[in-house]
Amino acid sequence: MKAIKTGIMGGTFDPIHYGHLLAAEEARINLGIDRLIFVPTGDPPHKHNRNITPAEDRYAMTLLATAGVLEYSVSRIEIDRTEETHTVDTLRAFLDTGIRPEDLYFITGLDAMLSITSWFEYEKIPELCTLVTARRPGYPVSGIEKLPEFIRSKLKYIEIPQFAVSSTEIRTRVMSGKGIRFLVPHLVEIYIESNNLYKNF
Ligand code: ATP
Ligand code: MG
Repeated sequence: MKAIKTGIMGGTFDPIHYGHLLAAEEARINLGIDRLIFVPTGDPPHKHNRNITPAEDRYAMTLLATAGVLEYSVSRIEIDRTEETHTVDTLRAFLDTGIRPEDLYFITGLDAMLSITSWFEYEKIPELCTLVTARRPGYPVSGIEKLPEFIRSKLKYIEIPQFAVSSTEIRTRVMSGKGIRFLVPHLVEIYIESNNLYKNF
């Protein structure tokens, strides 16, 4: 029997937008991934930087954005953890459910992948999964060659249609009263409006 390939797309998703969905879907198509799991980050245990929207709102928006797509689901694994979460632990938790490392894919944009050497226990990550990364508009194309060889050897770079949107841009547009139609799924737009998100941050 053919093994099921699982793709993990992690993010703050504050809010989730079509750039996330496009990157994840292109990775899925390119690598023959059978199911994609979106993993919103939990609430940070220590408040720093800007105030991140509560995890339950970010989770709800991720559900709304992916609802009805057969291959997609959303995991609460990082949201339900009270301590700080790390990608390496999340990957281990998925492997503990019986997925084999050769069937597990971790998907990011290139901007995120280039910071991998600062992640907790990053040296362990290439043993746990295949890394998939896609170019992101507005960020440098290069940098992969500077990553250590043991990471590069487990990294698949994919070209995707470029969609220059970020959660930061969505938040800024909402705050300044500009529309976000066609940048996020319709139900996410409605959720942001009904819950008065991003009005002042
Ligand atoms: P913020 O502006 O708040 O940092 P963001 O848009 O970067 O938000 P994140 O939740 O930080 O979104 O990113 C989650 C993942 O999605 C990262 O791996 C990031 O590289 C990727 N990503 C985000 N936007 C795009 C995009 N437009 N195209 C491709 N990848 C993207
Ligand atoms: Mg980001």
